[in-house]
Amino acid sequence: MVKIFIDPGHGGTDPGAVGNGLQEKNLTLQISTRIRDMLVNEFNDVSVLMSRTGDQTLSLTQRTNAANAWGADFLLSVHINAGGGTGYEDFIYPGVGAPTTTYQNLIHEEIMKLVNFRDRGKKTANFHMLRESNMPALLTENGFIDNAEDAAKLKSASFIENIARGHVNGMVRSFGLTRKTSTVYHTVVSGDTVYSLSQRYGSTVQQIRDWNNLDSNYTIVVGQVLLVAGGPSSLTNATKAAQGNLQTDSIVDYLNSINKDSTYANREKLAKQHGINNYSGTAAQNTQLLNKLRK
Ligand SMILES: [Zn+2]
Repeated sequence: MVKIFIDPGHGGTDPGAVGNGLQEKNLTLQISTRIRDMLVNEFNDVSVLMSRTGDQTLSLTQRTNAANAWGADFLLSVHINAGGGTGYEDFIYPGVGAPTTTYQNLIHEEIMKLVNFRDRGKKTANFHMLRESNMPALLTENGFIDNAEDAAKLKSASFIENIARGHVNGMVRSFGLTRKTSTVYHTVVSGDTVYSLSQRYGSTVQQIRDWNNLDSNYTIVVGQVLLVAGGPSSLTNATKAAQGNLQTDSIVDYLNSINKDSTYANREKLAKQHGINNYSGTAAQNTQLLNKLRK
């Protein structure tokens, strides 16, 4: 279990930097909350504690005390910059070596891949959060709130999402985190076959992605089962409703499990649609039809 302490900078009576209608304390909380949710929902064996989950006032000492008492493996402090610059930079304590430098390298690299900010570089500073923490620590400064261009980016939900994802991707590499996987039974809504679904929507995989709001970070394999890497929490009722009974060898039970008409007349119709001629309800034909519907 990797224990990651996330510290959204500022909060409560301390708004941090302000500018262009934005307050640093709100942005740091948004970014930190998304980082926590991504880590916990999508990855195995990672535990996250946040210094604050709401708009609380906390001293710097309270923050590092909490991380030290918990025995975190890593401390991440999230901030927004101000003072007339532009872009992204991050800090570790001066003079520390690996693994802190490795974490900084990986997280910096992953953030710069996803986030369209000027790269201000990997830096060191004698900050409280870096000095008083007992574990490797990184402080990130995600754009300048008093720069109109940076602030416009920070107002975009997808930009915030990319900042969070960059941090997460860097920590995944730093700590070798593995994705949760879950099995989602295939396939169809209202008894449509995957084939007809493909025709209707262009791509079954794309349709499944759309239902579940899954981006390209998720691997989807269409077959008798769908393997969705990312965990059950990312699945909506849409796919749950589409689950068929995979345990059964009975075409009737299978059709019932997807709320589809299982009468002889309808099975005859489905058989015809799937190229099974002269359907008479034999066991062999039923098995053939079941396999085609599950394909
Ligand atoms: Zn700050």
